[in-house]
Amino acid sequence: MIEINNVSKHFDGVPVISNVSFDIRSSEAVVICGPSGSGKSTLLRMIAGLTNPSAGAISIDGEPVQRRTFNGQIGLVLQEPFLYSHLSVVNNIALAPCRVKGISMKQARTLALNLLREFNLLDKADAYPHELSGGQKQRISILRALAMEPEVVLLDEPTSALDTISTQEVIGTIKRLTERHCTVVVVTHELSISNMIADRVVCMDRGEVHEISTPYDLVTRPRSLIGKELFSQSV
Ligand code: ATP
Ligand code: MG
Repeated sequence: MIEINNVSKHFDGVPVISNVSFDIRSSEAVVICGPSGSGKSTLLRMIAGLTNPSAGAISIDGEPVQRRTFNGQIGLVLQEPFLYSHLSVVNNIALAPCRVKGISMKQARTLALNLLREFNLLDKADAYPHELSGGQKQRISILRALAMEPEVVLLDEPTSALDTISTQEVIGTIKRLTERHCTVVVVTHELSISNMIADRVVCMDRGEVHEISTPYDLVTRPRSLIGKELFSQSV
């Protein structure tokens, strides 16, 4: 379980996150949404252990999140997929397990091929990043995070650089993560992601959490103004 306890963050004295507290259960899929500048990426980076809170604490199963980051137990996928251009797809996925976990390249490649098979991307194993569509690149980035067998996968607007079809493909991949019982946290403006995968949606505005509800409740009976604004479009 991820515990976010009274977390605040300010940059040069300017508050960006104020007193945020909520828990994310193991295997839960949580979507964080809110207007631009509301602090979503900052909160996600703190959950990833890449930025420290100015006050409060974030822990996973009782342990400070920074320690988990070092062990590669948190996977992070960003808006722009990052792949090594000189490595094939299978080697892109195999690299980190080989380097960080110390398994042999042969074992790491087997792991990578199994993931590609499971996620219906085996035909791209020997392709290079420039031969992939945006959606395929993003799906491979997700598999690259998954190859480290993380306890938690965090995704920051994974579909916002993609067209409609690629977005659907990436949503399918995220849905599979949840079916694998990964704990998944997605920052997204894409309401269909919330509707398809979220157990709960966290609505943020100006650095504060205003509402945490199921997607269904947000659409049918939002309790906050921001929840209503964000979800009224989806009916
Ligand atoms: P978007 O939807 O546009 O991605 P967001 O909700 O992810 O927005 P954040 O990127 O978390 O918002 O930023 C929240 C606020 O914190 C913004 O006002 C931003 O300018 C500020 N901010 C973020 N990172 C830094 C930083 N490293 N230094 C100073 N200010 C920052
Ligand atoms: Mg952001």
